[in-house]
Amino acid sequence: MTLSRALRDDFPILGRAVNGVPLVYLDSAATAQKPRQVIDAVRRFYEEHNANAGRGLHRLAEESTEALGAARETVRRFLGAAGADEIVFTRSATESLNLVAEGWAKAQLKAGDEIVLTEYEHHSNLLPWQRVARETGAVLRFLPAGAQGALPPSPASALSALLGPRTRLVAFSHVSNAVGTLLPAQELCQVARARGAAILIDAAQSASHLPLDVGALGCDFLAFSAHKLLGPTGVGVLYARRERQAAMQPLLLGGGMVREAFLDRATLLDGPSRLEAGTQPVAEATGLSAAIRYLEAIGLNAVRAHERELTGRALSLLREVRDLAVYGPPDAAARGGVVAFNLRGVHPHDLAAFLDQRGIAVRAGHHCAQPLHRKLGIAGSVRASFHLYTQPEEIDALANALHDAQALVR
Ligand code: PMP
Repeated sequence: MTLSRALRDDFPILGRAVNGVPLVYLDSAATAQKPRQVIDAVRRFYEEHNANAGRGLHRLAEESTEALGAARETVRRFLGAAGADEIVFTRSATESLNLVAEGWAKAQLKAGDEIVLTEYEHHSNLLPWQRVARETGAVLRFLPAGAQGALPPSPASALSALLGPRTRLVAFSHVSNAVGTLLPAQELCQVARARGAAILIDAAQSASHLPLDVGALGCDFLAFSAHKLLGPTGVGVLYARRERQAAMQPLLLGGGMVREAFLDRATLLDGPSRLEAGTQPVAEATGLSAAIRYLEAIGLNAVRAHERELTGRALSLLREVRDLAVYGPPDAAARGGVVAFNLRGVHPHDLAAFLDQRGIAVRAGHHCAQPLHRKLGIAGSVRASFHLYTQPEEIDALANALHDAQALVR
């Protein structure tokens, strides 16, 4: 079952034309479009409540503080966290991942300790760990990607074989932004937990596409960005389990986090405020909260079913295009709503430009996952990615355009 196309009316931008034809937006993995409910929530905040949160005693300051608290509670409920104090607002998934690396891992890890990542990682969940390894002497190990970027044969046993007495952290991307592979998070968490390793999930590509429950997963940290979740840019989330959070140091120091400051030292507050120096992104968090409520009203299971159907359609239509190599798992059930491909003999940038002429927006390049592309033996790919507003006709438009591109180059 796909979702009603009437949902598209909630997204003003989807009504626009590009190059004289209706926009076909297939770049939601880069950033999702925003429903009117999110745009209105941000506008309402600025028009009616705007003030700095947590600082003033006047009415607007109280309203702004309440808005931030309400947003934190919405995120807590959305993720199934035990307490709102486990929700830290950052600027992005990237900042959230760096906060775990710099703020938690640096102080915890010693030379010879091991961090297990996967070959699917986005650079945002790779470079921070390379720096931790360089600076602490910890060693990085990688769960290998399978053939063509699909899952390896038994991911949980492969992970288990990588874990040793010195493994301190397992960090993995839930859905590969580059090839769409959906990692079996529950199984991987079980294996890591049984061996006493902390767990970080990069949920940048999963948080708005399938149901998540940090309690059921048993992870210690989980990161995502609001802008891929139908929300505004400029705000991200780090779920940090209470027991782990107590051992974390802030990335930034400054106002809003201080219990007592002297000229030569300061003590910090407890809870997420300790990790959120400076003015918090209240309007953005309010927009995120509206995005979550929008998604919850539709239901994450329905979103997942919709995208799975579209992905299945894309896989079967794209298989019929001659000279087209499609990466990632062959089955939609093992993927998020992401399909990456290359047309033989055509540079991904040229193919993306051709599609843009037809109003079809896709991404081309290495998608910030260069090691995975290197493993696949390619420099880059073209990526089409979907969300709850994507329609079957848009998949058909992509497939038709690819047939035309293939005919042009032959
Ligand atoms: N991880 C993954 C898997 C991603 O897809 C992205 C965004 N492409 C990020 C992390 C980083 O997100 P942001 O750029 O919003 O910080």
